[in-house]
Amino acid sequence: MRGKSSMNENYKLIINNINETKLKYNIKDEVRLMAVTKNVEPEMVNKALSLGIELLGENRVQEYLSKREKYTKKAEIHFIGGLQTNKVKYIIDKVDLIQSVDSLKLAAEIDRQAKKHSLSMDVLVEVNIANEQTKGGISGEYSVVEEFISTLNAFENLRVRGIMTIPPPMNSERYFERMNGLFQKLKAKFNADILSMGMSGDYQAAIKHGANIVRLGSALFRQNA
Ligand SMILES: *Cc1c(COP(=O)(O)O)cnc(C)c1O
Repeated sequence: MRGKSSMNENYKLIINNINETKLKYNIKDEVRLMAVTKNVEPEMVNKALSLGIELLGENRVQEYLSKREKYTKKAEIHFIGGLQTNKVKYIIDKVDLIQSVDSLKLAAEIDRQAKKHSLSMDVLVEVNIANEQTKGGISGEYSVVEEFISTLNAFENLRVRGIMTIPPPMNSERYFERMNGLFQKLKAKFNADILSMGMSGDYQAAIKHGANIVRLGSALFRQNA
């Protein structure tokens, strides 16, 4: 099965790269590898789970709902895509964390739906660290992020665990550095403990700057010739 063997190679390479980067920059804390499943068949996701992946990132509500029953092994699921307020109800009891909270309206709906299900939802605040017009996320100015999190902390059924970003693909390292600056302050102020950044093309740079979840799609799932 070619699909599995090349994924196995991809996985080993990624784990090696993560470990080498941690050694190089003397990083002791755990860095979690998330497999991003968009456009990936459930069979391939199951292969990733069988290799030892324990964290999945889901981008689209419909796609996730149609695939989740076919996942054969339990994993921690994070929703990482843009989330419309009216779709929160479909996933509230089917994900472990929502990484893409960038408005009060969305947070309020997550809180409301969580209350209905008697659960507390962990969330990350999505930060638009390069202030790109086309992207979601709140401004990366510390005062803005601090105020937003303070407001979210008033909700009873929602818990802010940290921040995530999708920086511009070019020169992403300086944005990772800025995110880490924000994260260190948020750690001190709110006990934040998750910094989610770094994708297939730049996860090593993200780890260098303190990412503790890296979100990988193509680097893991691509088929090697
Ligand atoms: C698709 C996606 C990823 C993974 O991207 P790759 O470049 O394929 O690793 C990570 N995070 C988010 C939010 C994504 O949408």
